Amino acid sequence: MSGVVVSQNEVLFERAQKTIPGGVNSPVRAFRSVGGTPRFFKRANGPYVWDADDKRYIDYIGSWGPAVLGHAHPEVIKAVQDAAVGGLSFGAPTEGEIVMAETLCEMLPSMEQVRLVSSGTEATMSAIRLARGFTGRDTIVKFEGCYHGHADSLLVKAGSGLLTFGNPTSAGVPEDFAKHTRVLDYNNVEQLHELFKASGSSIACVIVEPVAGNMNLIRPSHEFLNTLRELCTQHGAVLIFDEVMTGFRVGPQGVQGVYGITPDLTTLGKIIGGGMPMGAFGGRKDIMACIAPLGPVYQAGTLSGNPVAVAAGLTTMCLLKQEGFYQTLEAQTRKLVEAFNQVAYAHGETFCADSIGGMFGIYFSEKVPTTFAEVSASNRDRFNKFFHAMLDAGVYLAPSAYEAGFVSVTHDDAVIEATKVAIDRAFAAIK
Ligand code: PMP
Repeated sequence: MSGVVVSQNEVLFERAQKTIPGGVNSPVRAFRSVGGTPRFFKRANGPYVWDADDKRYIDYIGSWGPAVLGHAHPEVIKAVQDAAVGGLSFGAPTEGEIVMAETLCEMLPSMEQVRLVSSGTEATMSAIRLARGFTGRDTIVKFEGCYHGHADSLLVKAGSGLLTFGNPTSAGVPEDFAKHTRVLDYNNVEQLHELFKASGSSIACVIVEPVAGNMNLIRPSHEFLNTLRELCTQHGAVLIFDEVMTGFRVGPQGVQGVYGITPDLTTLGKIIGGGMPMGAFGGRKDIMACIAPLGPVYQAGTLSGNPVAVAAGLTTMCLLKQEGFYQTLEAQTRKLVEAFNQVAYAHGETFCADSIGGMFGIYFSEKVPTTFAEVSASNRDRFNKFFHAMLDAGVYLAPSAYEAGFVSVTHDDAVIEATKVAIDRAFAAIK
């Protein structure tokens, strides 16, 4: 016995890499850009996660968004257990799916009809195909640094893991596909006018993260979203709000409610599945009527509307509809941002933080970025050091300077205060 304690995370990571590429089933989990060993989790409860060494962390990823109620909410777990007993999957319609669709359409006024799928990727991929089928046009427009899942046409100058690993356009996407994807700068209204003027009649759709969360958190200007709405209407293009991340995260009606803009289609994921695999896309009834079996645009899924996922999602939606839910979520997220800003200031760090609803961004830059170029100019080395110091101090942040963070309603004042102490320790440690 050497007396050196080996972390179970390291043991598992080494083992994982033998049979799983990079040891992970989704790239950002591998800690590649921040270095070090990813934490393998055993369990989670409320605002906490426990790793393979039984070390507890305050979690600000929340499974990348879904855990808005905190992990393992007892009512959600009970609903899942009850549903599982009744059968895991039928591949046939259920009443639960109707209630889910009714709930989504009731909460999002822009959504007249909706179809359930099993991930955010499926939602955006299907929405793009639908927009193309509806308009009979090929060109799609997206924004640099926005991530919309991993369908071919969307992996062009994308955010999230693609940005983190410095490879924003994926290999394996034929040029013949990529050439139909036009990429513009987020928050750049002039470019929008120019593109629509030059080729408005060939644009099938614009897909946008209406608040960006895959190049860190970037707010849209009102002018940017309003211009998008106006130009799409003028030119007959479909406006798709990708609210996979922001839906029921920034407020009860997503970004469309906060900014008062009605998209033609909305894509959802994360929170609506309550931690189980679920996505959805929906919107205008005349557009949704193009989907099979009603129309010629094909879309399907063996596990779509899965009864266990629907049970988790519906229970989650029920709980977040409760009075005061979003006030609490927003207030706790603001307190976290204030804690970050105050402690950073006391340490003389070049740092700022921002939040909207239950999502936040931390930036090693003087002011909150509003463009992809500004966020790219922030100090990523400093972020990486801070990330590890926070991990040592028992706080689990997203392992990339290009990701937003997520708070749950179980992040109460005591948890935020404990986080503040950890932030102080972390800044002291990297002095
Ligand atoms: N759109 C956005 C805005 C996302 O943030 C994500 C995932 N982070 C996706 C789509 C893809 O969702 P999924 O990972 O469930 O396929």
